[in-house]
Amino acid sequence: MEINVGRLKRHPEEILDFSFAVAPGEPAAGDLRLHSPLHVDGTVTNAGRSLLVRGNLAGEITLECSRCLEEFAFPLRVHFEQEFRPQSAGSPGFDDDFMTYNDDVLDLDDLIQQTVWLNLPMKPLCRPDCLGLCPVCGHNLNEGPCSCTPAVDPRWAPLADVKAHLPHPGQ
Ligand SMILES: [Zn+2]
Ligand SMILES: [Zn+2]
Repeated sequence: MEINVGRLKRHPEEILDFSFAVAPGEPAAGDLRLHSPLHVDGTVTNAGRSLLVRGNLAGEITLECSRCLEEFAFPLRVHFEQEFRPQSAGSPGFDDDFMTYNDDVLDLDDLIQQTVWLNLPMKPLCRPDCLGLCPVCGHNLNEGPCSCTPAVDPRWAPLADVKAHLPHPGQ
C-alpha cells in the first residue's frame, strides 16, 4: 500500500490518516498467508527530518499447528510505529531502525509484512491444549484416541525391565 506524502511534507503541521485492507493473495501480503483481510489503519506525522508512521493492524493469519500440523486461523491485532527517512538520507546502518521512502511515496508493504512476521508465535498451537499426533500411527488425537497402545516413555523402560524380573508374588 502506497501513501502519497507530498502534501504532508509541505504542510508539516498536518496529520495524514490512512486506512486500508489487504486481501488474501494480494501482492501487498507478500509471503503472508492471510485467512481474512488484514485491516490496517493509522497516521503519518511529519517529524522534521523523518516521517513517523503509527498504526494498528488486525486480521487472521493461516498457521500450521506445531503439534497436530492442522492449519488454523491465528487472530492477530498489533500496534506498530516506524520512522521513515528519505532514501536520499542513505540506507539504515546496523543500529538504525528506520525505513526509507522515495520522493513523495511511502510504501507500507514491508512494514506491514515485517510487523506480522515479528508477532507470530514461534510454536503455533491451534488451541492451548492441543493433543497433537500419535507418535506411533500419526492419528490426530484431537479427533479421538487411536487404537495404538500408549508408547512406553523411554525413561521408564528400564523400570519395566526390572519389574519383569522380580519374583512374582504368590509363586
Ligand atoms: Zn493442534
Ligand atoms: Zn496411534
